[in-house]
Formats: sequence, C-alpha cells, structure tokens
Amino acid sequence: DDLPAATRNLVGRRSAALGGAYRLFYSEPVEFVRGEGVYLYDPAGNAYLDAYNNVPCVGHSHPRVTEAVSRQLATLNTHTRYLTDGVVTYAERLLATHSMGAAYAMFTCTGSEANDLALRIARHYTGGTGVIVTENAYHGVTAALAELSPSLGPNVPLGSHVRTVPAPTGGVNFTAAVAYAISDLERHGTRLAAFLADSAFSSDGVLTEPAGFLAPVADLVHAAGALYIADEVQSGFARTGSHMWGYQRHGLVPDIVTMGKPMGNGLPIAGIAVRREILDDFGRQVRYFNTFGGNPVCVAAASAVLDVLDTEGLPTSVAATGAYLKDAVARVAAESPLLGSVRGAGLYLGADVVDPATGAPSGELAAAIVNGMRQRRVLISATGRHGNVLKIRPPLPFGRQHADQFLGALGEVLAAVGRG
Ligand code: PMP
Repeated sequence: DDLPAATRNLVGRRSAALGGAYRLFYSEPVEFVRGEGVYLYDPAGNAYLDAYNNVPCVGHSHPRVTEAVSRQLATLNTHTRYLTDGVVTYAERLLATHSMGAAYAMFTCTGSEANDLALRIARHYTGGTGVIVTENAYHGVTAALAELSPSLGPNVPLGSHVRTVPAPTGGVNFTAAVAYAISDLERHGTRLAAFLADSAFSSDGVLTEPAGFLAPVADLVHAAGALYIADEVQSGFARTGSHMWGYQRHGLVPDIVTMGKPMGNGLPIAGIAVRREILDDFGRQVRYFNTFGGNPVCVAAASAVLDVLDTEGLPTSVAATGAYLKDAVARVAAESPLLGSVRGAGLYLGADVVDPATGAPSGELAAAIVNGMRQRRVLISATGRHGNVLKIRPPLPFGRQHADQFLGALGEVLAAVGRG
C-alpha cells in the first residue's frame, strides 16, 4: 500500500500494544504530530483541514487555552475536595449560559460519566428505571450506558428497561413513537425514569430539523413523571451557532443537561447542569466524589474556552459560516447523484450518501468519499445507522476560506467516486 513505512510500522505496534477493540479512521490511517487552528499536521509537515473534530472547539492548540492550562498546572492542581475558587466561578458562568431556571453544575471527566450521573439522579428522583433513546443512539462507555447505546451494534445487548424510538427523520411521528415507548414500558411494569437524547442526533445521522420538534416530547415525558435529559456532548458550546445549547433551539427546558467533549478544548472535563429541585434530595442522600472531575487545570481550560467563544465572537461566525457551508453543500448535492438530503445547524452538517442507481443509503460510497477527502487532506467521517451520512463538524474557527477549501475537495472527490 501507499502508507509511509513509519506509519505502517506504528499501525502494527499500535495493534500489538493496544489490542483489537480500537478502530482507526481511514483505509490509510494518518499520523498527526501537531495541530493549529483548523489544521492538523502529519510528520512530513503536510496540513490537513480539520472538518471533523469538535473537541478542539476553539481550535487546535489555542494559545489562550494553552497559556491558562500551563499557568494553572505550574501553580496548583489537586483533587476536588479542597476549596478552590476556579470551579465555583466556572460553574456560575456555565450555569448562566443555560435556560433551565435555578440549577446546579456538577463535574466529571467524560461525557459518559456525565450521562451515568444523570441517569443515577433521574432514577433517584423518579423512582423509575426505564430509559428511552433513539434507535442508533450513542451515550457512552460505561456498562449502564452501553446497554442504552444501540449504535454499538448487536454484540452489545440493550437493557430490558430500555426502549428505542425511530430516529426523528421526516417520515417519523417522533412524539407518537415516544408515547408508544412509554406505554410499552408501563405494560412491562417498568416506570420511565428518563428520555435521553442527543439534541443533534449525531449518531442517528445529524437530525436537526425542524428546530422545535423536541418540545412536545419534553411535555410528554414530564406528563409521564419522568425527566428529560438533553445530551449536549455533541450539540453544546455554540456548535449550532444560533444557540449555546442544542435544546435551546428546540425551545424546551430539560431537567438535566450533560456536557463534554468541547468543554475543555481537549482537556478531560465534562459534567451536568441539573435543575435544583431535581438534585436536592439526591444531594442530601448521596455522596458524590469524582477525583479529577473539575480539577483546577481542567477548569482553567474550560474557562478559557468560554473566554475565547466570547472574545472571538465564535457563535456569530459559526452561524454565518455554517449557513454558507450548508447552502453550498446543498447546491453540490443538487448536482450530484451521490448525495441526497443535506441537514444541519451551525457547524454541524450531515449529508446523505446514496447509491445513484437505487437511491438507497450507501455506507460504502460514504466511506469512499470520506477516504477520498482524506487523500485530499480534508478530514471528515460518516455516521448514521447505515454509515452513509457524511459528518461535517469542524472546530468552530472554521471560516469561509476553510469552507471553500472543503468544497473544492468535495467536488473533486464526488467526481472521482462518481466515475467509480
Ligand atoms: N454522548 C454523546 C452524544 C457522545 O457523542 C459521546 C461521545 N461520542 C458521549 C456521550 C460520551 O462521551 P465520552 O466519550 O467523553 O465519554
């Protein structure tokens, strides 16, 4: 193959050292040694346009984050049972971005732990155990979350207290599907604890439209005495441009919000925001301690992220660049027999790849496009139940010139893949 010998060697050592459960991106894996802004660099110094990574939300190696983390690391880093100012001030700032009424913030290291904690609180508050998720949801790595993450596939069984509902695509009456799942759980003697959904339905194929469709679902869940948990690991921190949080696009008030990935621009910090009345009894009865969750270094990173979102005006530029990119990709799709529907909000876009002969979803052609983009040094991936949805989700400083570079590569790749 075309892989440089050093890369091939590292791939071999990786699987020998880390085992088989990990997967690498791309048929020709790529090694990175450096990142800056919306670019990643391979060992030969080639720049790759990052149109995929949401974790470095304010850009790779952002100097303000680097400086804040370095300064804090050189000053103080402890576990989280001493009194420090940073985490309190950050919690106050974070809560001010939410629209949940009176709320608390709690911190973890990963989105999985945040969802796990949210479930524990929901079960404590409601006395129920049932959970409703979408048919190709992903919510995390723990045992409790793997059994409600159907995207992990048939080798990871769902729990008997879990019901799935179809992904909210055009033809689906999503509210009716949730109502049916609630009654189905009840018939089996299981009380619903929570409806848990990614506000952008990433692993279901990036389903963002129409804004507002989730509001009646929240009403229904509340009427059943259960909680609405908004998983904002993907859709949060201004990803959608118009709003800081995906649930705000839908005009609903969640009971618990879980956050992660972009929160610390790559430092492991995640957490929840929870309405006060929901947490109060749990707070009295349960002791919660998370060694690293919200430690001073991670909080320094997270605070710097909020600073940069603000000082660089990212929500506004995300809305503008996102709209520009979505329109342009939709125009490309209208001309290409390989692409179907294009969706998205802000800098989170999904584009369906279809078989030109049948119009059916094609994960194979999507993989060919993803790999073709990688050959042209543009990073994207594919998602959705059939793996056929191009997932375009760059760091937020992605500007119009980056969008144009992306579109140039996409045009070439569609032409090449279309020729077969
Ligand atoms: N929820 C969603 C919607 C996610 O996409 C992910 C990660 N892909 C998680 C939760 C879990 O987050 P983490 O990997 O930080 O545990």
